[in-house]
Amino acid sequence: MIIVMNSKTDDADVEKVIQKLHEMGHKVHISKGERRIILGVIGDVENLASVPFYAFNGVEDIIRIVKPYKLASREFKDFSTTIKVKDVIVGGEEVVVMAGPCVVENEKQIFETAHQVKALGAKILRGGAFKPRTSPYSFQGLGEEGLKLLAQAGKEAGLAVVTEVMSVNQIDLVAKYTDILQVGARNMQNFVLLKELGKLKKPILLKRGMSATIEELLLSAEYILSQGNYEVILCERGIRTFENYTRNTLDLSAVPALKGLSHLPIIIDPSHATGRWRLVSPMAKAAIAAGADGLLIEVHLEPKSSLSDGAQTLRLDTFSRLMKELRPIIQAVGREFSTPVECELERMKN
Ligand code: PEP
Ligand code: MN
Repeated sequence: MIIVMNSKTDDADVEKVIQKLHEMGHKVHISKGERRIILGVIGDVENLASVPFYAFNGVEDIIRIVKPYKLASREFKDFSTTIKVKDVIVGGEEVVVMAGPCVVENEKQIFETAHQVKALGAKILRGGAFKPRTSPYSFQGLGEEGLKLLAQAGKEAGLAVVTEVMSVNQIDLVAKYTDILQVGARNMQNFVLLKELGKLKKPILLKRGMSATIEELLLSAEYILSQGNYEVILCERGIRTFENYTRNTLDLSAVPALKGLSHLPIIIDPSHATGRWRLVSPMAKAAIAAGADGLLIEVHLEPKSSLSDGAQTLRLDTFSRLMKELRPIIQAVGREFSTPVECELERMKN
């Protein structure tokens, strides 16, 4: 249930309502917008019917949220969530590109990639250190060494970083090195992990499970939000269908669907969604046209020799072309895109 209060209500009056809810044994989540203040009351709200909340100063409306997810819903918050990561804002006017290799392989690879993708306009560096590989015999990542290299490369290039956390016992270690913690598709319904990440004060990039519905994705986000961490970025990365030409099927309709259902930012990962590098740029452009807040793209200095996911990874020249081609699409949908000077000069030459 949500209690809607006028945004001009005195803090003391808002506090009176919160106190009443606490007395009745409820947890309260507060969302302060320009027009209204929303108090989200989660759980068994039956006992609230007996309280005349309309009699409290500032209370304008009492609404029962019928959706199974509450804090993630648009009803709870009618303005879009923006998430600040270093000096980057995800979910705001600007489209944010996160790029980097599937996996951190060595110092040279991650440092060079960091500088190159930064020069081409990426704002966040990605790279796995703990990898969820389908086969136990495939390269599993460098672990802490990989985290260190990623953090150092990000720092040197001036990029925030994102990397995956696979289990509860890795959280402290991963959080020490990264700006955003990624929950991979295979862990989207690892509820114990989600609850623990909900206690952190760092943004979480939550990838949609390969057989998860949109509602299930939002319920997984709800696990994180309900613990007090409101900084969740949703990521569509393709779902399993009968089609096997592509690695997964990119569900682009998830973008406008999620925008309607939730206030959380949504980005698209066209690399894991397609499994084929030739399809990455077209799908990245389509994602922006569909309203995505950003992209997560695998880029490697030499995809042929990548230790993971080479077939879906862009070379730097292809990534550079994509960054240029994204600009008119971003402008057409009324968003912003700040590209660095080098990229701008290149564009003017063409
Ligand atoms: C990744 O982004 O590194 C990854 C493993 O993706 P997913 O969880 O979507 O398969
Ligand atoms: Mn990968």
